[in-house]
Amino acid sequence: MERTLQKAVVLGSGVMGAAIAAHLANAGLSVTMLDRKIGGQRLAQTALEQLPRQKPSPLYSKRVLERIRAGSFEEDLTAVGEADWVIEAIVEQLEAKQELLAEVEKHWKTGTIVSSNTSGISIAAMSRQTGESFRRYFMGTHFFNPPRYMKLVELIPTEETDPEAVAAVKRFCESRLGKRVVLAKDTPNFIANRIGTYGLLVTMHEMAKHGLSVSAVDALTGPVLGRPKSATFRTLDMVGLDTFVHVANNVHRQASDPEEKAAFEVPAVMKEMLQNGQIGEKAGRGFYQVV
Ligand code: NAD
Repeated sequence: MERTLQKAVVLGSGVMGAAIAAHLANAGLSVTMLDRKIGGQRLAQTALEQLPRQKPSPLYSKRVLERIRAGSFEEDLTAVGEADWVIEAIVEQLEAKQELLAEVEKHWKTGTIVSSNTSGISIAAMSRQTGESFRRYFMGTHFFNPPRYMKLVELIPTEETDPEAVAAVKRFCESRLGKRVVLAKDTPNFIANRIGTYGLLVTMHEMAKHGLSVSAVDALTGPVLGRPKSATFRTLDMVGLDTFVHVANNVHRQASDPEEKAAFEVPAVMKEMLQNGQIGEKAGRGFYQVV
């Protein structure tokens, strides 16, 4: 019998978690979105309230957003036991993801699909400490930002992932979310981010060499190349510099070839911006001031 996906749990309510939750709710799923509870404040509740004000507008009606219930990791992880699909979308750090998956496994019921929205951390490494039966239903499902508009989903099974579970997610993404699914190997940053991160960093290294401004680079790498206006720095602001640095470091750390290592070195200016909390749209300031 074909598997149906009706109830989802999204772990993380940041840039991607909240947008994925809304995208799934729009496809008719009932969604529980969980995040941390900090100082009595449930981050997922705040994110849910902010969804209608997001830019670009996610275009989701009140009725769609009513399908999302917000909760916290601390109080509501039992929702995992009721779900057909659990999507992890927390910070791009291996240890944080491993820790959360260990908690998820305690509430998980056999057969439920669990996937990670990681930009490029090894799926096998992330699930290494979980049990064999959990790993059979674990894979990467990499949505792109903003998920409401971006067609591509990279699907990353490990050698242990059950082909039936992979087929079910692929079918769902194509038929219910209207995505194009690409199967990727579990290599650092998979396919799109391996190329995309490289391109962005080359652009930044060239910018420093030639003394170009942010707006000059966006003008040179935008519509004239058949790409959106937001080609380089507006994209970085939307992604979040903190997330981008984690993604670039993921390849940098693992590169053995010195040339590759140098190419994935994060420029000093970006490290400085990170230290100053100038991390893009989610902080209200990045390369551009966000109003
Ligand atoms: P974000 O910074 O907007 O949100 C991260 C969320 O993780 C926050 O809600 C935070 O509360 C939570 N968090 C932080 N530390 C945690 C911890 N130790 N334990 C549990 N939760 C913690 O990040 P994002 O941009 O939504 O990225 C989420 C995932 O999606 C990452 O794996 C990222 O690589 C991936 N991704 C991001 C983009 C993008 O454009 N931003 C695109 C595709 C994939």
